Amino acid sequence: MPDFCAAYGCSNRRCVATKARGITFHLFPKTKERRRKWELALRRKDFSANNRTMICSEHFRREEFDRTGQTVRLKEGVVPSIFNFPAHLQRSVCLQSL
Ligand SMILES: [Zn+2]
Repeated sequence: MPDFCAAYGCSNRRCVATKARGITFHLFPKTKERRRKWELALRRKDFSANNRTMICSEHFRREEFDRTGQTVRLKEGVVPSIFNFPAHLQRSVCLQSL
């Protein structure tokens, strides 16, 4: 079964092409509270992740990855924050202060 990114508006799936672009795929956290945070971050109605649910690296900021090992990992406690929401789901969030 192909692995698709669960994020709204994202059609990335784990394949040669995305790998060539440097996109990595990450499973949802196993712990309930953290998984819930990710689910909320995705803002998809009636969405709940299972142990196979993945999200691609395009929804995380560069500094949220740990690239020191052989595989690209997410740092502890990060939550996906970069999404292409349709207008009605968008909220103004200030990620950086002036
Ligand atoms: Zn994605």
